[in-house]
Amino acid sequence: MNLADLGQLLFPHITKTPEDYFKLYPKRNLPEGAKVTRFAPSPTGFLHIGGLFAALINERLAHQSGGVFMLRIEDTDKKREVEDGVSGIIDGLNAFGIHIDEGFVAKDKQVGEYGTYLQSERAEIYQTFAKDLLLKGLAYPCFCTEEEISEIRATQEAEKELPGYYGKYAKCRDLTFEQIKEKIEQGIPYVLRLKSPGNSEKRISFKDGIRGNIEMPENIVDIVLLKTDGIPTYHFAHAIDDTLMGTTHVIRGDEWISSVPIHLQLFYCLSLKPPKYAHIAPIMKMDGDSKRKLSKRKDPEASVSYYSEEGYPKDGVIEYLLNLANSNFEDFKKQNKNADWRDFPLQMNKMSNSGCLFDLVKMNDMCKNKIALKSAEWVYDEALNWAKDYDKELFGLLKADKEYGVKLFNFDRNPEKPRKDLGKWNEVKETFSYMFDSLFNPTYELPQNLNVEDIKKIASAYIDRYNPSLNKEEWFNDLKDLAEEVGFAREVKEYKQNPDSFPGHVGDVSSVIRVGVTGRMKSPDLHGILEALGADEVKRRLEKFVKEI
Ligand code: GLU
Repeated sequence: MNLADLGQLLFPHITKTPEDYFKLYPKRNLPEGAKVTRFAPSPTGFLHIGGLFAALINERLAHQSGGVFMLRIEDTDKKREVEDGVSGIIDGLNAFGIHIDEGFVAKDKQVGEYGTYLQSERAEIYQTFAKDLLLKGLAYPCFCTEEEISEIRATQEAEKELPGYYGKYAKCRDLTFEQIKEKIEQGIPYVLRLKSPGNSEKRISFKDGIRGNIEMPENIVDIVLLKTDGIPTYHFAHAIDDTLMGTTHVIRGDEWISSVPIHLQLFYCLSLKPPKYAHIAPIMKMDGDSKRKLSKRKDPEASVSYYSEEGYPKDGVIEYLLNLANSNFEDFKKQNKNADWRDFPLQMNKMSNSGCLFDLVKMNDMCKNKIALKSAEWVYDEALNWAKDYDKELFGLLKADKEYGVKLFNFDRNPEKPRKDLGKWNEVKETFSYMFDSLFNPTYELPQNLNVEDIKKIASAYIDRYNPSLNKEEWFNDLKDLAEEVGFAREVKEYKQNPDSFPGHVGDVSSVIRVGVTGRMKSPDLHGILEALGADEVKRRLEKFVKEI
């Protein structure tokens, strides 16, 4: 068959050659060892935590090596696409501090010399390479209908044969030019297939950056390169885009691992050098006694927006993901408490290849540790920022008085042993509800070891007694005086020596005041709380307490 005629018949509008594109997208000028990576989601509007994980790994490996990280949008599957499906993904990456160098940096904004980074706008590029394959006798049009393809699949299933269009099943492989021409003239739709040079006896091997050496049977299937609308399949677009964009490392979900033989064959047929591959194990969770993948449908925490809504500190989420990627991250953090996560040297070969077990409780703990080390001002700013979008009431309360807000977050924030009471910003309201009149609605958790008469006696005695000008030590001495006045032991030691001689000790006295003022048996620094609330409010609260218990 005259392949030039076939090329003209199928691609009359394609006048460029691959060479033209190689000139248009020249080799990058980067230092030795610099990695060029990309995150390449479909615009489904939904950023899965596994997507953020993959983006983070790609971003880290690129930036650690002085390379480039791109965001390419793979919108060749129109069935999966949702309206404005790009914003959610970009917003998610931006919110968590993943810096994008090239490609989509905002919904309507692309940067970089290797674009466009939207696959649906690259049809002509793919078709140019497809035409080139056709001219080399490595591609052909296939006119089989969906029914015919289903029949082939059914036969193969029944015969327990490898599924796909190959060998005796590849009916369109040997059509003559005349047959093809006739069908085209009749307007019969067709896909363009690779004429696979694969041999079922042979195996391919490659080194996966995460999993090490892998061997698999060579691809023998005549896979689809261009669909009936001329839009490429994932496989073909991957080979072309990652070549022209200069991707050095394709680091993607491990659902693609079985496609590597196809991809290597495509690069071979196109006479292109394949990138290095690494396949990331999925994020798993425990469900009862078994592990399963985090599911978009079943698990709210599968969505990155969940972490924004709950108010996890964004660096806390990223640090948790780094910890999932490389378990030595935790040691690094211990040794470098205040280091930025970007200072951690992430290593691809230390990543798990069997699935990372995701544990929200652990993430919350990491976030608690993180928040505990920050300044009260930082906590105030972050909580306010979160509340602006997710909790109007809290936003109003915090915004109304910054000094007061910072004071709350400063309770027990001593650098040696900081209090770890907050893991995410939606816990602020509940944690500090007693610090705001409008949120204070106590049920009063009473000290179990005291009788109500004594509780009332202590609380009543303190109604007019609180003196905000006393420093912490003076204030506590005054509580000791009060303990003595109501017949309690001044010192805990004294009480322990003679437990039958006293109804309680000074600690119980402070518990009564704590409960009267906060409604709770546990709180941070009581002296600070009283001081922040002020004498009038302390008095009002104790009066209410005495009345209500
Ligand atoms: N669009 C593909 C996906 O969403 C990208 C896979 C890749 O990174 O190559 O799974």
